[in-house]
Amino acid sequence: MITETIQTKVLDTYDVAVCGGGFGGIAAALAAARQGKRTVLFERQYMLGGLGTAGLVTIYLPLCDGIGHQVSFGIAEELFRLSILHGAEADYPKNWLDTDGPRGEADPRFEVQYNPQLFAILAEKLLMDAGVDILYGTYVVGVNMQDSKIEHLVTENKSGRRAYRVTSVVDATGDCDIAVFAGAPTENFTQGNILAAWYYSSGRSSGYELNMLGFCDAPEEEKTEAERVESLSERRFFGLDGKELSEMTVLSHQSTYHDFLNRRQEDASIFPVTIATTPQIRMTRKIVGEYTLSDKEMHTRFEDSIGMVSNWKCRGPIYEVPFRTLYNASVKNLIYAGRCTSVTETMWDIMRVIPCCAVTGEAAGIAAAMTDDFASLDIMELQKRLTACGVVLHETDIF
Ligand SMILES: Cc1cc2nc3c(=O)[nH]c(=O)nc-3n(C[C@H](O)[C@H](O)[C@H](O)COP(=O)(O)OP(=O)(O)OC[C@H]3O[C@@H](n4cnc5c(N)ncnc54)[C@H](O)[C@@H]3O)c2cc1C
Repeated sequence: MITETIQTKVLDTYDVAVCGGGFGGIAAALAAARQGKRTVLFERQYMLGGLGTAGLVTIYLPLCDGIGHQVSFGIAEELFRLSILHGAEADYPKNWLDTDGPRGEADPRFEVQYNPQLFAILAEKLLMDAGVDILYGTYVVGVNMQDSKIEHLVTENKSGRRAYRVTSVVDATGDCDIAVFAGAPTENFTQGNILAAWYYSSGRSSGYELNMLGFCDAPEEEKTEAERVESLSERRFFGLDGKELSEMTVLSHQSTYHDFLNRRQEDASIFPVTIATTPQIRMTRKIVGEYTLSDKEMHTRFEDSIGMVSNWKCRGPIYEVPFRTLYNASVKNLIYAGRCTSVTETMWDIMRVIPCCAVTGEAAGIAAAMTDDFASLDIMELQKRLTACGVVLHETDIF
C-alpha cells in the first residue's frame, strides 16, 4: 500500500457532465445540451458509441413491440435513423421506414444493422452541433463530494489528472463507475457473462460481414438447436476487474483467430477487417434505484414513466420505464443511463440493449439539465419536456 497526496487542478465548470459516450451517454449529452445547458461528455475511448461501435455490436434492436406498434421514440428513433443515414449494413425492414404499414406479427421488427464507424462519426457531429464538449481519452477516476452531491469529477487523460466542477452528473459508464466513486448502492451481475468475439471480416466469396461469435442475443422465436452457437469458453466473466477483462480480451482475440483460420480454408482471400477495441461484456454492475423494474411489469402504467421499451426477445411486451429506476437518492445530483439502470436480473437482459439505453439516456439528460436533486424533480415538467421532444410516455397513448 502506498499513500499519495495529490492536488488536482480544477479546469472548468459544467452544468451537466456525462460520463461515458455509449448510446446511453450520447442520448444524455444530446438531450442535456438541447435544454441549453453547458454539457461535457467524458469518454475513455477515442470514439463515441461504446459497445455499439468500438464493441462492434451493431444491431439496433427493435423500437417496436413486434405486433405492429412503435414503442420507443424521441432520441432512440433519431439515433436509429442516424445509424442508417447512408444505408444499412444488412437488409432492413423497409415497411417501418418507407411505408405507413399496416404492420403486424408477420412483419419484420423495427430494427437494423448499421455501420459502426459511420455511426461514431455522425454521432460525434450531432453532439458537436448541439454544443457538447467532448473529451476523448478521458477516464473519470473519482469524485469529490459535498453534502451528498458530487461537486467535482476527477479525470485522467494525456494532460494528467484534472477536476471539473459540475452541477449534475449522468453515469453512462455502463458499469456504474461513478456510483461506486460516490458511494451509491450497486449490485453486480451474479451469473457472469459468456465470452463473445464479434468481428468483421471481408473475403471474395463471403463478402464483408459481421461474425457474431458468442452470440446469445437471438430472440426466443428464432432460437433453434441448430442455430445455437457453440460456447467459446466455459469461463464466465464479470467485467469489473482489470486483469479479468484483459484475460477475457485475449481469449476473445484467440477465438477470432481460430475462426479466421477455419474460414480461411473455405475462402483463401478472407481477412479480419475490424476487431473490437472495447471488452464485449453484456452486464456488470447496476444501480439500486428508488424503484427496480421487473420483467413481470409489462403493460403496467407508471405515473412517472419517462418512455417505453419493448422486449427484443419476444413479441408483445411493452414496458413503461419509471423515472425512479434512474436514480438513488443517496447521491442527490447523480443519475444513470444505459445498461446500468435499476432493474431485476431478468429485466436487465431486456433493458441493456441499444434502444433502451437511448430511452433512459434522453430522460437522464433532460432531468440532469433541470435539477441537481433528482428526488425532488418536478416529474410532470420532465414528462412535458420529453413529450415536446417526441417521446411517448404511456402505452395508452399508442393505441
Ligand atoms: C457481445 C454483445 C452482443 C450484444 N448484442 C446486442 C445487439 O445485438 N443489439 C443491441 O441493441 N444490443 C446488444 N448488446 C448490448 C448493447 O450493445 C449494450 O448494452 C449497449 O450498447 C450499452 O450502451 P451503454 O451506453 O449503456 O454502455 P456502453 O456501450 O458500455 O458505453 C459506456 C461508455 O462509457 C465509457 N466508459 C466506461 N467507464 C468510463 C469511465 N470511468 N470514464 C470515462 N468513460 C468511461 C466506455 O468507454 C463506453 O464508451 C450486446 C452486447 C454485447 C457485449
